[in-house]
Amino acid sequence: MDALSVVGGGIAGLALAAHLDPGRFHVTVHERREGPPPVETSLAMWPEAQLALDALGILPAVRAAGSGFGGMALRDGSGNVFFQAQAPGVIGVSRADLLRLLDAAVPGSVVRAYGPVASLPQSGLVVGADGVHSVVHRAVWGERSRARLSPYLALRGIIDEPVPPGAGGEYWGRGQLFGITPASRGRTYWYASFRSELGPGGIDVDEALAATRARFSSQIAGVDRVLAAATPGETLAQRIWTVPYPGRYARDGAVLVGDAAHGMTPNLGRGACEALIDAVTLADLLNSRPLPEALQAYNRRRLLRSQAMRVASSAMTRLALADRAQPLRDGLLRLAGRCRQSAAVGH
Ligand SMILES: Cc1cc2nc3c(=O)[nH]c(=O)nc-3n(C[C@H](O)[C@H](O)[C@H](O)COP(=O)(O)OP(=O)(O)OC[C@H]3O[C@@H](n4cnc5c(N)ncnc54)[C@H](O)[C@@H]3O)c2cc1C
Repeated sequence: MDALSVVGGGIAGLALAAHLDPGRFHVTVHERREGPPPVETSLAMWPEAQLALDALGILPAVRAAGSGFGGMALRDGSGNVFFQAQAPGVIGVSRADLLRLLDAAVPGSVVRAYGPVASLPQSGLVVGADGVHSVVHRAVWGERSRARLSPYLALRGIIDEPVPPGAGGEYWGRGQLFGITPASRGRTYWYASFRSELGPGGIDVDEALAATRARFSSQIAGVDRVLAAATPGETLAQRIWTVPYPGRYARDGAVLVGDAAHGMTPNLGRGACEALIDAVTLADLLNSRPLPEALQAYNRRRLLRSQAMRVASSAMTRLALADRAQPLRDGLLRLAGRCRQSAAVGH
């Protein structure tokens, strides 16, 4: 049996461990933390990621735990709808539920080692599934692979009440955005993003929430309602980091999956989806081909697609958080909304 060390037991690491052939690999998952994430948040699972969840055998359970999404209104900063963006088949699922289901899918033969990994494990293939600040990525690809700090702060949380009537959607203001979507069990998932000097580490959530309220309050009733219900204990505040282009995802006995490979801005809601696809693709290849061939094929299948997603996500961030270009952006989006309306009437 080949030894395989997975550094990081998050979405990518657990999905990989769940899908590797236990008859072929002796797998150890190294995870820094034990237990569920301290703050509950929600993730959009797009259809391609649902295929990966299906391969892991947990799609029905994710569907049952999550909520339908369908689409959302894209609005200007005052709440006027540009248009209704469709997202058929997308599921919103709490990160804690997804991690719980992935964890339960990992075979009992996989060894769990808790505590932070500071240097590369020495046995067999090492998989970097340790997120944007990946120890594996830095150790093998070098210091230039360090994550890059974006100027943006992101806050998110779930409040224990339904979406305020007529308030769902994403609000794009000048240099700031606010999102409100349904969460599982009849609750509301909200998120906000804007430029900020807070952090990058040790962000005081009270301060971040106060800054968010100061920016968004008294503009839109639904947003006010959500921010009034948000508490620091149920809010996650973090600066956004991205991972530079690594050239290839496998080298010198190591391979990268998930955010460790292509940490991206969150504006397309795709990072976790790509992490799941990476994990299932890599496991299928490792299960069925000799190691060097499997790693080459993984690189070929995943590098361009996931990097394209990373670049597209950055472009979306610039559009959604446009500052000086906001009037032009809004004009174009209003035009796009009118064109869609006339096309719909014409049919
Ligand atoms: C505001 C926001 C909203 C988002 N919304 C969406 C969305 O709607 N849909 C979507 O698909 N994606 C979304 N994402 C992206 C998504 O969160 C990430 O892409 C996803 O978590 C990546 O999973 P991962 O397993 O690669 O990394 P992580 O989730 O970062 O997991 C890495 C794991 O490695 C562990 N670890 C790290 N370092 C070490 C170490 N040295 N030793 C041991 N363990 C270690 C960590 O504890 C963690 O468990 C969002 C991101 C943000 C910031």
